[in-house]
Amino acid sequence: MKNCKIHGMIDISNFIIFKNNLGYKCKLCVIDNKKIYYQKNKEKINERHSKYYQKNKEKINDTRREYYEKNTDRLLEHASKYYNNNKEKIIKRQLEYYQKNREKVKEKQRAHYHKNKEVISERYKKKREKNILIQEEKSVI
Ligand SMILES: [Zn+2]
Repeated sequence: MKNCKIHGMIDISNFIIFKNNLGYKCKLCVIDNKKIYYQKNKEKINERHSKYYQKNKEKINDTRREYYEKNTDRLLEHASKYYNNNKEKIIKRQLEYYQKNREKVKEKQRAHYHKNKEVISERYKKKREKNILIQEEKSVI
């Protein structure tokens, strides 16, 4: 245990040791500092990021695409492994999110529906037609 001026007694594993004899800092303090720094400089940071992005857009997208293409299998495997290992947690989280944000979710679905009304109704129509066909086939049998 080690004492942090702000957070009190904290397990030593929660301290980060800085190089160059800068000493120890508690992880919570480091996170707080980062947050404060970000809050204070939000606009500057965002501007810098978007400038950097604008300047290097193609390069960034290329790198991302390349990375994705090279690692598609691994990424998909990782995602499905993660999903399988955390299925219950993920479903619970989604459910909780839905229950907490029911109105927001509904609003979003409504907006999505209005925006894509034609595409969706076309999709439904096709589905319905397919189902009718299947039913007809069944009734023939
Ligand atoms: Zn601290």
